Amino acid sequence: MIHTGPGNRPLFIMASHYIGRFAPSPTGPLHFGSIITAVASYADARAHHGEWLLRIEDVDEPRTVPGSADDILRTLEALGFEWSGEVMYQTRRKEAYAAALQQLEKNHLTYRCTCTRSELQALSDNSIYPGLCAHKHRPKNGDHAVRLRVADKPVSLVDAVMGPYQRHLKNEVGDFVIRRRDGLFAYQLAVVVDDAYQGITHIVRGADLLDSTPRQIYLQQCLNYTTPDYLHLPLAINSEGEKLSKQTCAPHIKTESTVLFDALNFLGQQAPAELEHESCEIIWQWAITNWQHTAIPKNNQLPPSGYIV
Ligand SMILES: [Zn+2]
Repeated sequence: MIHTGPGNRPLFIMASHYIGRFAPSPTGPLHFGSIITAVASYADARAHHGEWLLRIEDVDEPRTVPGSADDILRTLEALGFEWSGEVMYQTRRKEAYAAALQQLEKNHLTYRCTCTRSELQALSDNSIYPGLCAHKHRPKNGDHAVRLRVADKPVSLVDAVMGPYQRHLKNEVGDFVIRRRDGLFAYQLAVVVDDAYQGITHIVRGADLLDSTPRQIYLQQCLNYTTPDYLHLPLAINSEGEKLSKQTCAPHIKTESTVLFDALNFLGQQAPAELEHESCEIIWQWAITNWQHTAIPKNNQLPPSGYIV
């Protein structure tokens, strides 16, 4: 059952000490890697008697695959996930992102950047933006990205699985893009604005996003938002060590309780063997009662057989 609230704001904001979320991108059907994140975020929220929200991260519109958002929702329903409130879609949140951008501009934390991709690729280390446009006044004609000025100090967190983690944004990342040259808002800005709007207190997601987390914490600080707790999960990888994705041919997961069972074991939860062929409802009962985030391994792993073509 899905609890839907009227309007676009969930009913229970402030009502819970734990508000978690699952935020897939609609770039294809859920695969085993994304199911792991869904299972962990849901079990952790429910084990804390918290709420669990769903957000479709379709901010990067050119990457959206038509129909996949609905496909994802159907898969989650079939696997027995229950979310609170209405599903949030980032494509309907552009005014909120524009307001956040304006606030950052007003505080002189942004600048316009006209560097092209090929100009940046020609730099000796193109993973760190060296601030080429930081002190130039580029015209506001739309043909520019907007970058956030980062601070010259480390941003750190203590992740619930991965432990202490930090990034010195100025030395290791550089001023980063919050609105793209094509006019779309960057993922980093959208996710931070949405997490704050939805009152998210706990973020459970894949370790591929750990590297983004200091940027997001810095943005939260710039916007006077509260920083949630973070838990980053090991990734399901293929035999070449690559993250499972549409690109690495992870097949469309089956809507069977076996998938839940396999995901729980991937997450170190040691579900008893007799649970494997039980209903989703029974598996969830066990998972929520017995959930231990301390059992989640740090290292990326191969999924059980059958999930990679
Ligand atoms: Zn530039």
